[in-house]
Amino acid sequence: MPPYGQFVFGHEYAGEIAAVGSTVDELQVGDRVVVEAHLGCRRCENCIRGLYTACLNYGNARRGHRANGMTTNGGLAEYAVNHVNTLYRIPPEVSFEEAVVVMTAGSPLYGLQVAGGYFAGETVAVLGPGPIGLMALQLVKALGAVRVILTGTRASRLALGRELGADVTVDSKSADVVAAVREATGGKGADVTIDCAGATDTFDQSIRMTKTGGRVILVAFYHGPVTANVSDAVRRNITIYTERGEGGTSVGRALALLAAGRIKAAPLVSQTFPLAQVRRGFEVVEKRIDDPIKVIFHP
Ligand SMILES: [Zn+2]
Repeated sequence: MPPYGQFVFGHEYAGEIAAVGSTVDELQVGDRVVVEAHLGCRRCENCIRGLYTACLNYGNARRGHRANGMTTNGGLAEYAVNHVNTLYRIPPEVSFEEAVVVMTAGSPLYGLQVAGGYFAGETVAVLGPGPIGLMALQLVKALGAVRVILTGTRASRLALGRELGADVTVDSKSADVVAAVREATGGKGADVTIDCAGATDTFDQSIRMTKTGGRVILVAFYHGPVTANVSDAVRRNITIYTERGEGGTSVGRALALLAAGRIKAAPLVSQTFPLAQVRRGFEVVEKRIDDPIKVIFHP
């Protein structure tokens, strides 16, 4: 990240097209669009192969890379500039707020794609009922998972997780989550485990609660180095996947799932503020006032 003050924050945003570049004919003034944050450089070998969220020129704006809201100007503004590659038209039945939250779904959806993208008949454990985890559980259900076990520390989030389709919830403050997942799967372990929590112990828990031969998907960023019994994963032939951001045009595909009613975004919008109250909005998130999930600003 460049130093604070050198770019506008906000990597999840939606809006109406106010103007288009001279060669743009895909979109018109007035169209409603949602963004994806990443524009690859379109010149490195990864970008050419489609891995634009893992661009080898990440952060190098001179070579054309943009991660709006993270390295280049983002959406906490009245106007934002986006490359046409990073815009998706919002279907009429989807609100701006829902579209913004769907941007959040892009990252876990890309993780699911990287890990095979096919979950029919599988039991999936999701760690962490934050916005990403609450989206991940809906996405695996939409892609065929028969059972989702959600673990987390906050009762209100676990309750929302149940409303959104979690079959089993485990309070990690009062229960041993690994034992709970093993018990819920007849001792076998989850076919797939998705770490959306990124706590110090959740990588290790993810390995231990996964069945022999299963998959672990790491979606969260960890706050620092974490320890895990990786030998357990090696001995039991568990495959560990990582993913970066909303690659693979996942935002557009998540938007299609939302428009089709396969996932819900509105329950994740907890508070909205006018853009002028941006400090208050950040305070609400930082101090966890009234259990914020997604706080949205309206310009
Ligand atoms: Zn690149």
